[in-house]
Amino acid sequence: MSENKKPLLGFVHKLPSGTAPGNSGKTRCPLCMGLFKAPRLLPCLHTVCTTCLEQLEPFSVVDMRGGDSDTSSEGSIFQELKPRNQQSQVGILCPVCDAQVDLPIGGVKALTLDHLAMNDVMLENLHGEGQGLVCDLCNDREVEKRCQTCKSNLCQFCCQAHRRQKKTSYHTMVDLKDLKGYSRVGKPILCPIHPAEELRLFCEFCDRPVCRDCVVGEHREHPYDFTSNVIHKHGDSVRELLRGTQPRVEALEEALAQIKRVNSALQKRVEAVAADVRKFSEGYIKAIEEHRNKMLKQLEDIRVQKENSLQLQKAQLEQLLADMRTGVEFTEHLLASGSDLEILITKGVVVERLRKLNKVEYNTHPGVNDHISFSPQEKAGQCHGYEVYGAINTKEVDPAKCVLQGEGRKAFVMGIERAVDRDMVFQELGLVQLEKR
Ligand SMILES: [Zn+2]
Ligand SMILES: [Zn+2]
Ligand SMILES: [Zn+2]
Ligand SMILES: [Zn+2]
Ligand SMILES: [Zn+2]
Ligand SMILES: [Zn+2]
Repeated sequence: MSENKKPLLGFVHKLPSGTAPGNSGKTRCPLCMGLFKAPRLLPCLHTVCTTCLEQLEPFSVVDMRGGDSDTSSEGSIFQELKPRNQQSQVGILCPVCDAQVDLPIGGVKALTLDHLAMNDVMLENLHGEGQGLVCDLCNDREVEKRCQTCKSNLCQFCCQAHRRQKKTSYHTMVDLKDLKGYSRVGKPILCPIHPAEELRLFCEFCDRPVCRDCVVGEHREHPYDFTSNVIHKHGDSVRELLRGTQPRVEALEEALAQIKRVNSALQKRVEAVAADVRKFSEGYIKAIEEHRNKMLKQLEDIRVQKENSLQLQKAQLEQLLADMRTGVEFTEHLLASGSDLEILITKGVVVERLRKLNKVEYNTHPGVNDHISFSPQEKAGQCHGYEVYGAINTKEVDPAKCVLQGEGRKAFVMGIERAVDRDMVFQELGLVQLEKR
């Protein structure tokens, strides 16, 4: 029992959930949330009640791993990479970490019992003044005392029977209350093959604890020793392994911190770039709107100019038409109704007027045209630092040929001005260079 008294390994669990106050172990099952009942240790080092594990949906796994490799299941993503050989097996998923647990031939019950957790459950029960703990003998009544010799918890009734019986009358019994504060209850762990025997020996060949009956039976030829004698060697090798594992924990934590840092940097970068995109787009939209307004203003100016020209031409033609009508009507009236003398007297004015009117030249074609076009592909220079496109043209041009380069827009604006000037000239020409009808 010396193995029970000495601290087995120099490390303790880092208080996971389900930990009772003042207790360094896990006592509650992650599945049923109750105190562990016959807890089994999974290869991923998670502990679950036997009955809880038995209720999990088993699935059939095709184990293609090499026979020499570890059959225990660990990190789910890594094991997928291992080569497997065809062998049907039943597995379950760890309810805590989802790792695949390939069940041994004996099923859930063949998994290692978590004695440490069982001890912690017992301790928690003791700290809770034995509540919920039932007598180890009758398995019925509540525990009152503990026999230190048998290392079993007994109810009032079994206690008395214990004292009465000759064989056990000398056993030391203590009140459960007095056991409070003990870190280990030291309940004997019995051999699963020989339930009457405690596991006090260690078979070095099979690398597992055995009982007295085991070493004379199945392990007859195997070297063995008391657990108390081999614990240092084995404990040290576990400690050594732990020392090699701890830096990896730190490395993983650092890697995760790195990922967190990169992630937050990524978020910041995305936000910054999004802000840049928004700023650029808003500026671009403003530039385009400004350019649009400029083009619409330009179009309006062209319209006003052309309209004024037409208006002027229209007014002049209307005036001429009115004058002509007056002349024609007067002359017709004169010839139709005037006396000979009246005609002769008026003739001079009439002839001069008609001749003058006939000499007036006028443009029969509208002085301006409706030739206005829009070239959306045409470079229109920069607006607030943004390249803008699209220009108004007042002469008919093949848009495909209209590729202005370099100072295209300026040249284009000048072109418009020239075109407008030309209209004006034509218009004046239309008045000066009168055309006879
Ligand atoms: Zn459970
Ligand atoms: Zn697990
Ligand atoms: Zn009892
Ligand atoms: Zn006893
Ligand atoms: Zn045995
Ligand atoms: Zn052995």
